Amino acid sequence: MKFHSAVRAVVSAARPHLERFNGARLQLSRRLRDSLQNLQKKFGAWRERSKNSARTASERARRRKRRLAGAVGCAACVLLPSVVFGAMSYRRNLAMARESFPATPVLSTHDRVLVLSPHCDDETLGVGGTIAEARSRGLAVRVAFMTNGDGSRSTQIAENVRHLRRDSLRQIAAMRQHETVAALKELGVSREEIVFLGYPDGGTQTMWQKNWTADAPYRSPFTGADHSPYANSQTPGAPYCGQAALHDVTRLLGEFRPTVVFTTHPDDTHPDHRAAYAYARSALETLRLRRDSAGWARRARLLTFLVHRGVWPAPHGYHPDAPLAPPADLKDAGTRWMQAPLDERSRRAKEAALSRYVSQMAFTPHYLRGFLRRNELFGALSADEARETGPASNGAAPTAFNLSAAQKKPLSQQRMPHESARSF
Ligand SMILES: [Zn+2]
Repeated sequence: MKFHSAVRAVVSAARPHLERFNGARLQLSRRLRDSLQNLQKKFGAWRERSKNSARTASERARRRKRRLAGAVGCAACVLLPSVVFGAMSYRRNLAMARESFPATPVLSTHDRVLVLSPHCDDETLGVGGTIAEARSRGLAVRVAFMTNGDGSRSTQIAENVRHLRRDSLRQIAAMRQHETVAALKELGVSREEIVFLGYPDGGTQTMWQKNWTADAPYRSPFTGADHSPYANSQTPGAPYCGQAALHDVTRLLGEFRPTVVFTTHPDDTHPDHRAAYAYARSALETLRLRRDSAGWARRARLLTFLVHRGVWPAPHGYHPDAPLAPPADLKDAGTRWMQAPLDERSRRAKEAALSRYVSQMAFTPHYLRGFLRRNELFGALSADEARETGPASNGAAPTAFNLSAAQKKPLSQQRMPHESARSF
């Protein structure tokens, strides 16, 4: 009995402890369960976020791909016709090069040759061999440059001018003049026979169209100048306006009195090249109207050459024995084309002259060497030839017989010759 009583006493004494133990155990297990559930929730949320984020990233990647495909498609739509058109033009130009044109010498023994070149190197590309031939025959030659090439970013980059400062472009003008003098020396032309007019590269067409007078001059975006900053210009400090440029070209022609003037064709695609024709043509017209210069000015021939015309010359690159033929699209466009043959000596001189344009050869050597051919190509515009043939059959004065209404306007109101070339 005593034993049973003792056991009951022990059990009743231990019960509170056992109950506390059980309570603690239950509490612990609940906490563990809650923690586990929390962890599970957090893990689930993390997985969900990861999935969403992966979905967003892949969506972004897909959108990027779609945008890229769109851009490529648009570029293809824009470029493809150009590429196809370019390829077709090139094929047509190649076919032109296979056609035979009569070789036409353009100089006679008493010619006085004046070249009006838009930039430093155009004269060598277009007329270099003919200049060399003229000098070897003892003909008087004058080569004038509308601009000093002071807008040539490619030259600036090629020369590693690191800071795109305006001054550096003026330094490039000096460098290009230096190259020009060296190139023309190869052709037999001395420094005294070279004239720099100093007008802004890339601005001569705008001067003609929008900045005609000195009170609203053109400002070069390259040099920041609105007048010639070059001390060796024919007219130092000349304002950048069409009137001043025409005055300079007229003075140049009037003083030298050439019998043949070479300049760039009005259908050349470079605006400065089209403008050079406009100034040369207008200067000749001005002189033909003056009593003291009308005689020689009426007889002076105006011959043009091309430098920029799409995928031309064809074939592309250095083909010294291939002919230089006109672009197919200008074959019957109011220009009588002449292929002037070059002798071996003139061809070598032209190649040597071109090599002196180091800054330009560094950038587009294949294109430039494409002008080293067995001939040079000159175009006489039908309208110019009509002006140069003298009085019309009805006896009307040659200075008035085909002046169009456009020509009678002040020059500042005239359109560019390429816009009204056939009425010029
Ligand atoms: Zn040029």
